Amino acid sequence: MIIMTVRDIILHPDPKLKKICTPIEGITDDLRTLVEEMLETMYNAPGIGLAAPQVGVLKRVFVMDCRDSGETSEPLVLINPKVVWSSNEKKVYEEGCLSIPDFFGEIERPSAVKVTSFDIEGNLNSHDFDGLWATCAQHEIDHLNGKLFIDYLGPMRRSLITSKMRKIKKEKMRKNEIEK
Ligand code: ZN
Repeated sequence: MIIMTVRDIILHPDPKLKKICTPIEGITDDLRTLVEEMLETMYNAPGIGLAAPQVGVLKRVFVMDCRDSGETSEPLVLINPKVVWSSNEKKVYEEGCLSIPDFFGEIERPSAVKVTSFDIEGNLNSHDFDGLWATCAQHEIDHLNGKLFIDYLGPMRRSLITSKMRKIKKEKMRKNEIEK
């Protein structure tokens, strides 16, 4: 029997979500386990992308799966991702984030990007992303640089969301203490 671990997702505001993550230096068993657990955590949420800092690991890796139900490709694991090209054309998507649940914002980003990254076998890959994949990849790479989608919103909306999230976190902590 394979026992999977769903990790706790760190909620905004948290200093760990504001840090620049460090590159991964090699494929290790710890990294393989981390990636497996990140995928499990992402699907469990459910979400379409999850970056390592969201589970408290300040390393440059994220997982993503924006497939439609009919598509049979594999979920993607991007290690040390780099945007090497982005389109001049921009697109607005309504973004959300597992670290800021139930809040959304319309964010404008390049509509297509080329991203290089290593996969879990240690191979260097080049990905051409467009549509939701492009938005998701840019959102996740932002996480590795300590940036959240609300950082693109105006200061008023951002501070409103942050103070609401603070209250939600407090409420959660109180509940957890009662359960103990
Ligand atoms: Zn996010």
